[in-house]
Amino acid sequence: MLFSYPIEAIDQNWLNAVAIDMMLAGMNAIDEGRRPAAWPACLPQGRRALLEQRTGLKSKLSTLLREYRKLPVIERPDVRAAILRQTELPNIFSDTAPCPTLASLPASMRAPVSALAEYLFGQLSTLKDGNGFLRDNQYSVIYASKIRHCPFCGLNYFRAPGAPRHALDHLLPISIYPFAAADLRNLPPACDECNTTYKRGIDILNLGGVRRRCSDPYFGPTYRISLADSDFFNGNSIGGYILPRWNITIIGNELDQAETWNSVYQIKARYARDILDADFLSWIKHYSGWFVAEVGRGRDAGAVAAELPRYIRNVIQDGYADRAFLKAEAFRLLNHACWDPWIGNDVRQWLWAFVEYA
Ligand SMILES: [Zn+2]
Repeated sequence: MLFSYPIEAIDQNWLNAVAIDMMLAGMNAIDEGRRPAAWPACLPQGRRALLEQRTGLKSKLSTLLREYRKLPVIERPDVRAAILRQTELPNIFSDTAPCPTLASLPASMRAPVSALAEYLFGQLSTLKDGNGFLRDNQYSVIYASKIRHCPFCGLNYFRAPGAPRHALDHLLPISIYPFAAADLRNLPPACDECNTTYKRGIDILNLGGVRRRCSDPYFGPTYRISLADSDFFNGNSIGGYILPRWNITIIGNELDQAETWNSVYQIKARYARDILDADFLSWIKHYSGWFVAEVGRGRDAGAVAAELPRYIRNVIQDGYADRAFLKAEAFRLLNHACWDPWIGNDVRQWLWAFVEYA
């Protein structure tokens, strides 16, 4: 991802932990031959008033514990291991130890576990804490921190709080890692395109049977994009112009985590096809219009190229608005190509023609 979310956004990340504690307490009682604590005594004191009327929680938890009680004793540790490991966030994002999935649970446990997971996830949108629902509070803190773009792509704007909600992205899908279903750490907001077109139900920890690491949405690592290795005049032809062949490099540490990001969200392919190929010529035309307004026509090709650094510095925005993180890189590539000993003359002539004729 390109940047991370402020950790304060998950200050109210208690629901998943409360449910897991209740689950484990019930399992402990069963393993020790006792009856699990009755409702609502099994609820933690501090959340009892809020959760007592949630009969869905009561019934789903008791169904799950009933199935657990029926399990042969030898199968019970598998359930506990999955619970403990799946809730080990954020370590699970950055370590390489295996993580048991829903499919690893005894068959009779899977439906009750999934039902409870879906229920808890739904509760994030209906449980109020302070000013708003848990899920909305998380989003409001993110929006208040001036984040306006999706950190997974940097391309799409977030809607303001109160507008129709963006989907919450389960980094670890609920269908595979149900015990992290309502952990806000596992639920970073993402744009609809990232979420529904690219991420979908992909198992981000396990691609093609290989355990993979990924970024923690609240602590990164985060990455920067470089186009410095792109090849001018070697890419796709659009409108009679040969574009650069985009060679997109992800810069940062822990590059295996970056590769997970790229492969899940198709970052390089989207940037090349949807932004750079689609917008590069319009960016060049904008530069030529700016040059004409600032300097005028009738200059030589060297003079046209010489203004590129000023344009990059003064005209291209910082950050993610107007795709500036890609646009500025594309202009740095152009500026570099203008003074390349092999192709510089051709690139300068090409740019000059936009100023004179476009
Ligand atoms: Zn996105």
